[in-house]
Amino acid sequence: RLAPLLEPLGERFAAAGHALHLVGGPVRDAMLGRQGVDIDLTTSARPEETERLVTGWADAVWDVGRAFGTIGARKGPWQVEITTYRSEEYDPTSRKPDVAFGDDLAGDLGRRDFTVNAMAVNVADRSFEDPYGGVVDLAHGLLRTPGRPEDSFSDDPLRMMRAARFSATLGFAVAPEVVAAMTAMADRISIISAERVRDELVKLVCAPHPRRGLALLVETGLAGHVLPELPALALERDEHHRHKDVYEHTLTVLEQAIDLEHRLPGTPDFVVRFAALMHDVGKPRTRRFVDDGTVTFHHHDVVGAKMTRKRMQALRFSSAEVDAVATLVELHLRFHGYGGGEWTDSAVRRYVRDAGDQLERLHILTRADCTTRNRRKAERLRRSYDDLEARIERLSEEEELASLRPDLSGFQIMELLGI
Ligand code: ATP
Ligand code: MG
Repeated sequence: RLAPLLEPLGERFAAAGHALHLVGGPVRDAMLGRQGVDIDLTTSARPEETERLVTGWADAVWDVGRAFGTIGARKGPWQVEITTYRSEEYDPTSRKPDVAFGDDLAGDLGRRDFTVNAMAVNVADRSFEDPYGGVVDLAHGLLRTPGRPEDSFSDDPLRMMRAARFSATLGFAVAPEVVAAMTAMADRISIISAERVRDELVKLVCAPHPRRGLALLVETGLAGHVLPELPALALERDEHHRHKDVYEHTLTVLEQAIDLEHRLPGTPDFVVRFAALMHDVGKPRTRRFVDDGTVTFHHHDVVGAKMTRKRMQALRFSSAEVDAVATLVELHLRFHGYGGGEWTDSAVRRYVRDAGDQLERLHILTRADCTTRNRRKAERLRRSYDDLEARIERLSEEEELASLRPDLSGFQIMELLGI
């Protein structure tokens, strides 16, 4: 499918004496029968030469990170990134790898994250390179590192997050030795910038079935560093001190929210998904045991919204994203607070006003949270939310009519017209 597009580019590189290979995501995804618009290429050419060779073929060319060897280009709908072979030499005392350009493809593939991402196709002659057995792992649905996982993760701890992310997006299992290395080295993630961790977390949460990736984060202890509120839920009991697995409940709510997501304009919707993940994080903090054995409760919605803000700010989310998710976490309990009972018109108005432009997401989150082991009760809750939504609709229609009403009274109009 890509051959007609890439062949002319391959010829340009070949004429200059350079190899050009399709690599990573597009090779893996093509084998899985998926199509994307991202094209990753790797070459022996240095960035300056890559830039020269790609100019004239692409519609636009730019510098993604020349120091790291990456030139970006667009051709029609295709987003192209061409990176010079890498062969890093690591200074064990330094946090940052010194980037060194390499001369051979095998060396470049050997420093990639997983074997399924370390396969390449030569653009010139379509020959296939798979020095680390990526095809076999792909067939088994298995994530393995090309070398020892401990060495790979010590070179770049972000790869541990990527293991969880790919297990969610591809639905693959992670090899036992890789899980073991992740568990042993989880604390190394702390040297990685919050932005890079956040980007992987977003991709994980936006996967079709994020459960597997989240479980892996919790199991290996990585979640304890990047999203500690999540494993804390597993220890929680409900307010009546009956056992209730809030962690399991949270994953169920996330999955129900994903089922309802089609109501939103764009999917996957990170905001509603992350709100589902965080909706009950205030619970572990809402109970406070006082010395004399009595227990006090705090509103866990308010506590949860605060905790959500803090976590999202630490992960360097934009303030718009933080506000949106925190609003949902705070408001999702209002419906249950009324116990399905009577809402006054002004309570309905306040609900709509407080939700602002998060109203549609709030409907989804609150409905997704209408789960309990008691099916009849869940059904009753859902019907009661149907009623609330219908009232919101009616009320906003009435308000629209009201806004159409003229500012002048009938009296004033008669006076003006001399009637
Ligand atoms: P997708 O683009 O669908 O998210 P991808 O596999 O293309 O998946 P990218 O993040 O675009 O992932 O990276 C492109 C390729 O670069 C990967 O397939 C992998 O070979 C390599 N790579 C990216 N990040 C790392 C890393 N931190 N360590 C090692 N190799 C990496
Ligand atoms: Mg990619």
